[in-house]
Amino acid sequence: MPSSELVMDNKNASSTAGKIIRCRAAISRIPGKPLVMEEIEVDPPKAGEVRIKILCTSLCHSDVTFWRSTQPPMAVFPRILGHEAVGVVESVGGGVEEVREGDLVLPVFQGDCGECRDCKSPKSNICSKFVNKDNQSMPRDGTNRFRDLKGEVIHNVLNVSSFTEYTVVDVTHVVKITPDIPLDIACLLSCGVSTGLGAAWKVAEVEEGSTVAIFGLGAVGLSVAEGARIRGATRIIGVDLNPEKFETGKKFGITDFINPATCGDKTVSQVSL
Ligand SMILES: [Zn+2]
Ligand SMILES: [Zn+2]
Repeated sequence: MPSSELVMDNKNASSTAGKIIRCRAAISRIPGKPLVMEEIEVDPPKAGEVRIKILCTSLCHSDVTFWRSTQPPMAVFPRILGHEAVGVVESVGGGVEEVREGDLVLPVFQGDCGECRDCKSPKSNICSKFVNKDNQSMPRDGTNRFRDLKGEVIHNVLNVSSFTEYTVVDVTHVVKITPDIPLDIACLLSCGVSTGLGAAWKVAEVEEGSTVAIFGLGAVGLSVAEGARIRGATRIIGVDLNPEKFETGKKFGITDFINPATCGDKTVSQVSL
């Protein structure tokens, strides 16, 4: 179903605005153990927050890292993982004017208040106004919006938590997108693609004619290739243990492929030059 139809389906959203929503979520309760599908309660958004109906979500390796963690500060349970997603705005809290009910949005783990020195600076994308170092609660007040049916708080992850039918995200972590992008593609823009593309384009500032080496050709690595290609790199070397990824990599502009398992004693630079 095109995302535009799903957005239209949300016209009944106002019937739940301001109320607690009961929905299903995949809860991580024990490190490394299977997630458990449970019914949970999701509070309405407070001032500056947005409640989102998740339409599509995918798995990022950072979720796996949090899921496996047994030591603080990363080991926080129970928790709703997931931070790469796309959804539709169900309702907004006080003062939110950037998005409204029915908008298709990406929740993003990295906030952007647009006002602080760091958000305004072209050299930084780490917001210093809403500093959330614990990665388990809402950035403005450090509380949570999820509970299980026994009343126990369920923590969030990376300011998003998308393995649930509904989530609450600070508006500084929400980006409105056009409704004509297929949901499974839009979803990847929420973390993997923006991370990789941004690494090549904004952080490394790849220059025209550059040679670029990319270690690991997953969603992030392939997005680095795309960013490097757009910036004019002429040689893009993909390094990965899985030779099947080279065919995929060619579609993203990767020109050379190195499998470290077959390099022998040579380093990657010796092989590539
Ligand atoms: Zn991620
Ligand atoms: Zn900021």
